Amino acid sequence: MQLWLATSNRGKLIEFQTLLSKIEIHTQGELKVFSPPDETGKTFEDNARLKARALKSVKTGVWVIGEDSGLEVDGLNKLPGIHSARYAGPNARDSENVAKLLKMMALRSATNRKAQFQCCMVVYSPEGKEFVVNGQMTGNISEKVRGTDGFGYDPIFIPDGETKTLAELGLTRKNQISHRAEAIRKLGAIFETNAASPL
Ligand code: IMP
Repeated sequence: MQLWLATSNRGKLIEFQTLLSKIEIHTQGELKVFSPPDETGKTFEDNARLKARALKSVKTGVWVIGEDSGLEVDGLNKLPGIHSARYAGPNARDSENVAKLLKMMALRSATNRKAQFQCCMVVYSPEGKEFVVNGQMTGNISEKVRGTDGFGYDPIFIPDGETKTLAELGLTRKNQISHRAEAIRKLGAIFETNAASPL
């Protein structure tokens, strides 16, 4: 079976490829003519659906996934949330988003460093049936950037039960516990029951 992912995020793609190694995965970047939609939704699910629908409108007869994810920090009233990719500005780099988050926590003297990653996927089957799956990972924001693996906020997120950041733990451990891994496991169950030739 073929799976088309509505993302241009390389870090996310690597996690999908590792966790769904038996599936042929494609992304919107392979299409000559495709403009990703503006992420105007109010929730992760809204934005995941916008992404999935935009790709589905040009790629028919295949499985299509729109994924939206982000980091909610309790001491920042759940920000950056759906704004995670652009927290420090429209074309912000991961390092700039991370720096802004640590700065905002320092400015607010935020002592509550609890945080959670959220992930929502809106999935369309080749026949156009919609499925929604979610995943979450809870943890704490570190005082400093630590580690070099992964992407986004991985260098400042310490999952519950761990002492290292995701960027120090590495992809193998991240893929056992992450928000995206949880959602992808649920996705696997959907493929098993709904795909013509399952995994
Ligand atoms: P999206 O591509 O619009 O869903 O934005 C997701 C953003 O949330 C990413 O650019 C990261 O900043 C952050 N994010 C989501 N998942 C992760 C993760 O697994 N690790 C680190 N950052 C993440």
